[in-house]
Amino acid sequence: MSSEEELINLFNKVGLGEKKSQEIIKNKKVSSSLYEILTNESSSESYNDKQLALLHQLAIESKGGIIPNRKFITDAILDGRIKTNLQISEAVKYLKSTTEGADVSLDNFNAASGVGIELTEEDVKNEIEKYLNSINSELESKRYSILPKVLGEVKKLPSLKWAAPNLFKPTIDALFLAKLGPKDERDVVKKEKKPKAASNAATKAKTTTAAEPERSMFSEGFLGDLHKPGEEPQMYPELLKAHNEFTKGKVFTRFPPEPNGFLHIGHSKAIMVNFGYAQFHGGHCYLRYDDTNPEAEEEVYFRSIKDMIDWLGYEPWKITHSSDYFDELYELAIRLIKNDKAYVCHCTPEQVKANRGMKEDGTLGGERKPCIHRSQSIEHNLTEFIAMKDGKYKSGEATLRMKQDLSSPSPQMWDLVAYRVLDAAHHRTGDKWKIYPTYDFTHCLVDSLENITHSLCTTEFILSRESYEWLCDALHVYRPPQREYGRLNLTGTVLSKRKIAKLVDEKYVRGWDDPRLYTLEGIKRRGVPPGAILSFINTLGVTTSTTNIQIVRFESAVRNYLDQTTPRLMMVLNPIEVVIDNLADDYELEIEIPYKPGGKDESKFGYRKVKFGNKIYIDSNDIRTETADSDYFRLAPGQPVGLIKVPFNISYKSAEFDSEGKIVRIHVNYDNEVDKPKKPKTYIQWVPKSNAIHIDQVRIYKPLFNSENPSAHPDGFLKDINPDSEHVITNAVIEDSFKEVETKSPLNIEIVGSEFNIKEKKGCNTVRFQALREGYFCVDKDSNGNKLILNRIVTLKEDSSKK
Ligand code: ATP
Ligand code: MG
Repeated sequence: MSSEEELINLFNKVGLGEKKSQEIIKNKKVSSSLYEILTNESSSESYNDKQLALLHQLAIESKGGIIPNRKFITDAILDGRIKTNLQISEAVKYLKSTTEGADVSLDNFNAASGVGIELTEEDVKNEIEKYLNSINSELESKRYSILPKVLGEVKKLPSLKWAAPNLFKPTIDALFLAKLGPKDERDVVKKEKKPKAASNAATKAKTTTAAEPERSMFSEGFLGDLHKPGEEPQMYPELLKAHNEFTKGKVFTRFPPEPNGFLHIGHSKAIMVNFGYAQFHGGHCYLRYDDTNPEAEEEVYFRSIKDMIDWLGYEPWKITHSSDYFDELYELAIRLIKNDKAYVCHCTPEQVKANRGMKEDGTLGGERKPCIHRSQSIEHNLTEFIAMKDGKYKSGEATLRMKQDLSSPSPQMWDLVAYRVLDAAHHRTGDKWKIYPTYDFTHCLVDSLENITHSLCTTEFILSRESYEWLCDALHVYRPPQREYGRLNLTGTVLSKRKIAKLVDEKYVRGWDDPRLYTLEGIKRRGVPPGAILSFINTLGVTTSTTNIQIVRFESAVRNYLDQTTPRLMMVLNPIEVVIDNLADDYELEIEIPYKPGGKDESKFGYRKVKFGNKIYIDSNDIRTETADSDYFRLAPGQPVGLIKVPFNISYKSAEFDSEGKIVRIHVNYDNEVDKPKKPKTYIQWVPKSNAIHIDQVRIYKPLFNSENPSAHPDGFLKDINPDSEHVITNAVIEDSFKEVETKSPLNIEIVGSEFNIKEKKGCNTVRFQALREGYFCVDKDSNGNKLILNRIVTLKEDSSKK
């Protein structure tokens, strides 16, 4: 080890400069690697800045552990073969696969490090142009908003792997300019702020913004890398023949929920992965109720699961139940016993645990032993299993266990239970069975019976893959490939059935479909369009790691979707009557207003007529009765305000107050005495009094929990509840065009270029609109002929008070 002084001297001598040298020695590992590189691996005396920077980078890379034969890289830096950091890291990767002192082939090393692959500026430009042409329609519709994303994508293009990174941005800028012309108003409107969540390093979430174009999760990432049907790896390849005859080369997947609860946002990913992947490849997806646990199942869950899949726009190819296969499964259990691969066990749970090596302190790792039942004869096991089926044993007195591999390090191989005795009637098979198969026995075999080509599940099942394959092979049946992807988890809320049940039972929320919950029923009731969920999940992509998402990010995606798909209306939440003194009682001006202003949207959404007369409502927040400060833009004495789409401004004259001093009515002047209206500081929404619709309740939602991780609250998640999560406004009014929107809903407006334009069925949740300046709303299911209740789906902008 050299002293700091020695290091500084050397670094100075080679030309790193005092400041830089001081900085480098702060990191012991890096500085000692650099020292070694300069003294042991290099014979050069002088270096240029570029070489020094690269050698420093090499020292930094050495922090990650010994790099065998590192001198190869040092040499390549010094003779100019290696020119970039990327080349260094690829070279490091390559050398790490070699052993120190071994014969490393220079050709292989050069190839792995991209030596000699020179891309000119022209090459880079051509490649990027090719990419832009491939996304041309997206480029035209989303314009400059996709520039950051294009930059990210281009960097990933294999053909540009070795291009100088500093060429990307200027080249893309120039090509955008050439294709789209300079930025104009189309490029400023979409100025939605990047949610803070995106920069929060604590979440593993990928950074995507609302403006990102859609990419397909089915063709890239985890799903893009899956095998083709017909290429399922098998222990007994001859089994593929019958399987392929069934599938005819099509993808077959299944969504296998347990009907023991309502689905939540995480399940929408599973639904999309399974149904969407099959659909993408022209294949089929089953909805399979995994109903092997009769004690937990209820009819409402069956119906709700089906409804939610339907709501998300998917149709099961077939609806099946694990219980449909109870006869086949029983026969397979018999066969397993006959193959001497299963035995009836009478051990108590304690004995089973002890035999699996559980120590007194509850940890595993003790010696594993077979129990006495493991060596019973096949005949004995058959007799006993039939006795189990015939009701000779009570629950807990006997199980059928698979004879797996006790010497395996995986607990999933320690003779799992295949069948247990349960004294419960089953909703489909009634009293027929006294024994029920377990998940571990059922899942793989039903997948096999249904000829599933891709058994997609979440990563907590990785260890189960071994037993899944073992059982199919032990029975000599087609073995579907199980592949595991990362769960979707929403932070700032709870998703577990048990916790949501508590919120419902203790009346913190209105029910399982409360709009503040992230059950799919709740999200639907809140008014979130199904297409918004699918596009959102699509932008997250599918990988093998868990995706943690903050609620604000989900809301931002919903907002972006609603922006493109909802008509605009004027609604006043806290109305104050405004009398326009200089207009007669019979004055009427019919104003035509587009449901969604701007270009093509106007013809797509149409227009409505709003009658302007001498009595209107505006919001009490839009009025001051005292002279306004300079940062207040709305109506005040001496400060006129514009009414949206009304030709002239109004100016304040006087106010009437009730006995408590609250404004009940104001008087204004319609400033139509001039030829040309003066431009007001701002425009506000208004509702004509003559035909205003009164809204019984507008429910404004805030997050149900205060923190990002309610379950981590030391006194339990209930203590993290936000007491102000629902605010009800009871005197709001809305223009009567609402009726037209209600009648025409669902509008099923398609987003151009989206794969996820779902045709929704009529329902109050599809009556959605943007209330100008107030947010997005829908009709709540508590409404009826006499009562109108609205939910706020999301605000117009991300609430900056939220962290
Ligand atoms: P949980 O473990 O959240 O209670 P569950 O076990 O009740 O979920 P199942 O009914 O077994 O859910 O789920 C059906 C499918 O949905 C399974 O394939 C499961 O892997 C998947 N799934 C459940 N939760 C998530 C999630 N958060 N993200 C993605 N997929 C999920
Ligand atoms: Mg489960």
